[in-house]
Amino acid sequence: MAAPAAPPSVLKLKGVGTALASRLARLNIHDIRDLLLHAPSRYEDRSRITPIAEARGGRVLIEGEVVRAEVAGRRKPVLVCRLQDRSGSIELRFFHYASSLRNRLLPGTRWRCYGEVKTGRFGKEMIHPELMSAASGPEGIVPVYPATQALGQKTLRRLIGQALEILENAPPWLPGLPPSCFPEGVFLPLPAALRALHSPPSGAAIPLLNENRHPIQRRLAFEELLAHQLVFQGQIHLRENSRAPRLLLTEKGLRRFTAGLPFELTAAQRRVFAEIRQDLERTVPMGRLLQGDVGSGKTVVAALAALTAREGGCQCAFMAPTELLAEQHWRTWNGWLSPLGVRVALLTSRQSGKERERLLAAVSGGEVDVLIGTHALFQKEVRFDRLGLVVVDEQHRFGVDQRMALKSKAEGHVPHYLVMTATPIPRTLAMLRYGDLDLSVIDRLPPGREPVETRVMSEDKRHLLLQRLRRWIGGGRQVYWVCTLIEESEALSAEAAEKTAETLEAELQGVRVGLVHGRMKAEEKDAVMDAFKAGGIDLLVATTVIEVGVDVPNAGLMVIENSERLGLAQLHQLRGRVGRGGGKSYCILFYRPPLSDTARRRLAYLRECHDGFALAEKDLELRGPGELLGTRQSGDLRFRLADPVRDRDLLPQVREAARWLGRHAPEAIPPLIAFWLGEGGRYVEV
Ligand code: ADP
Ligand code: MG
Repeated sequence: MAAPAAPPSVLKLKGVGTALASRLARLNIHDIRDLLLHAPSRYEDRSRITPIAEARGGRVLIEGEVVRAEVAGRRKPVLVCRLQDRSGSIELRFFHYASSLRNRLLPGTRWRCYGEVKTGRFGKEMIHPELMSAASGPEGIVPVYPATQALGQKTLRRLIGQALEILENAPPWLPGLPPSCFPEGVFLPLPAALRALHSPPSGAAIPLLNENRHPIQRRLAFEELLAHQLVFQGQIHLRENSRAPRLLLTEKGLRRFTAGLPFELTAAQRRVFAEIRQDLERTVPMGRLLQGDVGSGKTVVAALAALTAREGGCQCAFMAPTELLAEQHWRTWNGWLSPLGVRVALLTSRQSGKERERLLAAVSGGEVDVLIGTHALFQKEVRFDRLGLVVVDEQHRFGVDQRMALKSKAEGHVPHYLVMTATPIPRTLAMLRYGDLDLSVIDRLPPGREPVETRVMSEDKRHLLLQRLRRWIGGGRQVYWVCTLIEESEALSAEAAEKTAETLEAELQGVRVGLVHGRMKAEEKDAVMDAFKAGGIDLLVATTVIEVGVDVPNAGLMVIENSERLGLAQLHQLRGRVGRGGGKSYCILFYRPPLSDTARRRLAYLRECHDGFALAEKDLELRGPGELLGTRQSGDLRFRLADPVRDRDLLPQVREAARWLGRHAPEAIPPLIAFWLGEGGRYVEV
């Protein structure tokens, strides 16, 4: 099939040269489609002119005649202008202005102004209003776009206006979906919907528009979600039409493996492994997401999959998010697998020269069965002999590109693919993140694991907490102290963590305090974590970097500062770091009083609830989507207009429409994906 036509660059528009194009690029606007999909961040009602006497606050449109205009102030000239209508007068103030404005705002001229009315020292005033000629027609509902300093509303409106005109000629890159794939009442042709997005019909409900819930916006969100769903559907289709090696695990192999474990597999672990095993026996590549709360025991299930690959004569690549975790997995897997003759190797950035060459040769020569590492695994020089299984731990740290690169390392066939995540995502949202993957869930923790005892404590009681830490550490045990400073920069949170470590060191004489934060180099971080694991550090001050999978069983107590600021799911993940060894473990949610009602309820809920999924749902209910699909976790999930949480009620219909299109109008799919995902169309290539 020919590639769908691409929308023309913004350079094709009148008045756009390379300078303006590069300013547009800063808003991620590169072509006409990007302009069309540059949605207003809000809408203003300019359908009515307010008499000046009635304008008492808020943003309004006024119109009047200039009665006086002068430049006041010596060092910092301000252009001050009095505008009058029949009802009264108002002062307009311009702190920055072009000299031409001074020459145009002459007494006797009439102007229309839009801006915020304030009451200042000299009565009513409007600062930097938007100025229009009084001769211009009424404006109606006006969009306000996300803009930058170098690129204002007027330019954006002008360019988007031009882009909308291009739509009139039915350009070939504009997708056209049959109305019947839309649910009842949602359809509007795409050009009409885009036009309405940028200039809503007069009388449209502005509050709805500003909440992004207007039918026009829902119509567009539906189409965007549909495009994403179709990508997944396409990936599933591609996968089902590719071939993978059949990997069989004998009962004997399974028994030998489990006999070597220091524990029994739980029923949940056995169930999800059965699902994986069934997939691996097929010649269709597996694509499976293994979801399980922190500590639920995903690693051992993955190791079984690796053993299966080996028995099937294939290699396994196991990718971890950090070198430290890769090393931890390597130790564990070695313990489990090497007694069975499986050759497990670790690829790290520390290996160099001859050592690295030798390892890579062993991998490409098929002398290594399982290769563990970070994203270093998909560097060009890493070649496998017969890669049959790819396992990725904590997927959200990897981009789609990276995961594709690793898959493409298996020549001739597509390897089976297993992703593990501890991020609890409600099922509906999981469909959007991992819509191409089948889902297996470990829903029970291994037995004998006592839930982490969680306490909520005010910072007023710091001295009591310190007493307790001294006793705890005196008893030979270790502590995590987590500093959180969200919404601030990485640098600031690193600084805060440094201060906290200093303070604690002074307060807790004799206690060995360590520090780890996101600004440190990977080797530095690893060195600190190693020391903590080895018991050379009693109390580890950390930013939220410790969140992912590090296992230090002797650290059974965690203090989380400013806990009221974090999402429940994230707090739960942090808390999962303790409670890994024997014995009781504790998490102290330290907060700065006063605590709001919502915050109090949230923390109380966390104290009682130990189910990551329930907590994620609660977050969704109490704090909205940002927590779950916040930038940190969203990774490759980018939407232009849709919000998968806000619009999640559309999802069942989206799935239905995707199936319908696949069956009845497959030719409409590629242009749709190209339009909405643009570059992201690469998702489609397995
Ligand atoms: P996660 O799912 O967070 O990756 P891990 O796989 O690291 O969890 O397992 C957490 C801990 O539980 C490890 O120390 C592991 O050895 C142990 N574990 C795993 N399965 C079981 C089991 N069935 N019974 C007891 N302990 C188990
Ligand atoms: Mg893990």
